[in-house]
Amino acid sequence: MKNSTSKETPLPSITLSDVGGLPEEMKEEILQTLEIIKEPDRSARIGIEAPKGILLYGPPGTGKTLLAQAIAREIGASFFSSSGSAFTELFVGVGASRVRSLFENARKQKPAVIFIDEVDALAGKRKTHGGEETEKTLTELLVQLDGGHDNEGILFIAATNRKDMLDDAFLRPGRIDFTFHVPLPDTKGRKEIIDIHTRGRNLARDVAASLGTLAESTSGFSGAQISSLFDSASRKAVREGREQINKDDLDYAIDRTILGSTSRALNDP
Ligand code: ATP
Repeated sequence: MKNSTSKETPLPSITLSDVGGLPEEMKEEILQTLEIIKEPDRSARIGIEAPKGILLYGPPGTGKTLLAQAIAREIGASFFSSSGSAFTELFVGVGASRVRSLFENARKQKPAVIFIDEVDALAGKRKTHGGEETEKTLTELLVQLDGGHDNEGILFIAATNRKDMLDDAFLRPGRIDFTFHVPLPDTKGRKEIIDIHTRGRNLARDVAASLGTLAESTSGFSGAQISSLFDSASRKAVREGREQINKDDLDYAIDRTILGSTSRALNDP
């Protein structure tokens, strides 16, 4: 069976400055964590151990994948990205063997970040979640996370929208050392994300002047929705033979994004 779950994933050139709207305290904790990882000898001298695992949880589209990519880039690690669902619903033993080869391949390319999105599909509570096969796959994940010396230089990052579904054994310190909530952005956060996604875009003067108001009026939007808003506005401008995004493009894109969140069936023409 073809297995793409254990291959290195190309890493976009994302840094922490491309992730907007993170709570200040969280940003500081992440920066401190990165320092520890980047300077393991110094950290060991002062008795701090590098974290083995980080859990990011929060609503869809808030930048958890983006943050994992930025962390990998900041620490100069290769990136192995997979989704929890890629390890389930397989023939006997395949899920467990995929987990094993993911870790084995990452260990060959240290320093490495192993990122598993939708980790709840793989590490859901054992009593309520799936049968024997799912349990074997989770057990293999726990074994790999407990890899001791073999895991030096490996940072495991997991993301989920459903932290409440995760098995307690998976969340144990030593496996998951830090848990960060990645929330929907507040007004200030939305403005940061708007600034990130308008970098390099050609905006009409009135649009550029109204970005603060846009941040205020997009309550409930995720970073992914803000990003798709500007993509949609840009596409409309291009379709109409213009190079600059005007107010109409933006209003059109806002309507589509609001409609899109109630009806996923709508696609951009
Ligand atoms: P899911 O829970 O659905 O997997 P996610 O939290 O992992 O979602 P991402 O995949 O990181 O979300 O976000 C998708 C895209 O939306 C990003 O590539 C980026 O363009 C944009 N985006 C999301 N959140 C942010 C953010 N906080 N700052 C800047 N851009 C963001």
